[in-house]
Amino acid sequence: MDEKQDTWLAQAGHIIDETTGSVAPPIVSTATFARDAQYDMRNGYMYARYSAPTTDHAEQIIKGIEGAEDTLLFNSGLSAVVALLEALPMGAKVVAPEVMYFGVLVWMQRQAAKGTITLSLYKPGDRASLERAVGDRADLVWVETPANPDWSVTDIRHAAQVAQAASASLAVDGTCAPPVTTQALALGADYSFHSATKYLNGHSDMTGGVLSVKAVRPEWEDIREVRKLQGTILPAFEAWLLIRGMRTLAIRWDACSANAMAIAAHFENHARVDRVLYPGLGSHSGHDVAASQMTRGFGGMMSFLVKGGFADALAMASRTQVFVPATSLGGVESLIEHRKTVEGDATDVAPNLVRLSVGIEDPINLIEDLEKALRPG
Ligand code: PLP
Repeated sequence: MDEKQDTWLAQAGHIIDETTGSVAPPIVSTATFARDAQYDMRNGYMYARYSAPTTDHAEQIIKGIEGAEDTLLFNSGLSAVVALLEALPMGAKVVAPEVMYFGVLVWMQRQAAKGTITLSLYKPGDRASLERAVGDRADLVWVETPANPDWSVTDIRHAAQVAQAASASLAVDGTCAPPVTTQALALGADYSFHSATKYLNGHSDMTGGVLSVKAVRPEWEDIREVRKLQGTILPAFEAWLLIRGMRTLAIRWDACSANAMAIAAHFENHARVDRVLYPGLGSHSGHDVAASQMTRGFGGMMSFLVKGGFADALAMASRTQVFVPATSLGGVESLIEHRKTVEGDATDVAPNLVRLSVGIEDPINLIEDLEKALRPG
């Protein structure tokens, strides 16, 4: 892309509808496409489960900001992960972090239990642990950075070297570090993945997932085929909501990052908080690596380890008035969540961990709200 990301995003990739000249992107909602007089497809479209114009438009925007050779949108982040894993050979060795978004981990563990993949886990942020887990050979190395829900940071450049030496592909889940701050493909990843439900959309009004590839290889066509056959393409209306959301991605990211930094600094030494986990703080173990690969701020995701235990953290997460008690992240509205209640026994997340997705509200209201939730009465 030969222009600044912010310009590209604000103008939705400069794609003007040729039929109407509409400046706002249209929604083309159709299941099927008429053929021309020669019985050929008119614009390459045949059936909406295969590909469709509004989804293509959203893909072009993401392809541009990722610096990708190609991009595919799915109807959820998990659908994209499923397609990527399905395109691996039977019994492929997948290397993944032991701390990551638990839904992806659970899916990988299910596949490993069925024998379709073997799974080797590493401690995120620990280079030697990653090197050991990859060993001499692997098929896919999965990195999530910063990683849910302790925001540990993995060095993408290092992971790329390790993956390459083992003839593996590197996929980076940058859901919490969108391409305005982290350019995973330029840092060495083969695939960049995002739950588009989160920062890319930014308004908590659709679910979607996206995979972008640095250089198209045969596996990529396999991934496209899985999407087509499973029917997991992002539908037109959701693609349109995503396009609309992405037009403000850059300024939303800046606002979330500024608010989160103010909150992290305020609560870092708070009497009711054991630790604030936020890669933007100098005290975070991954701060230096994060600073080198999150070039435009650290975003809105952080966790508090609340003093006390399970009950104290759950009570705090239930008392906020501005932070909405809900799962998900990356929207304009701030959310709070007690992760142990959500993840249950599937992971060993700390029982006193409360996750915050900081939005774009006035930071004074956000800080006051958390103060009251931590000091009831
Ligand atoms: N990766 C990360 C880091 C996530 O936070 C999530 C969802 O919370 C996913 C993947 C899965 O995405 P989706 O919920 O859109 O399927």
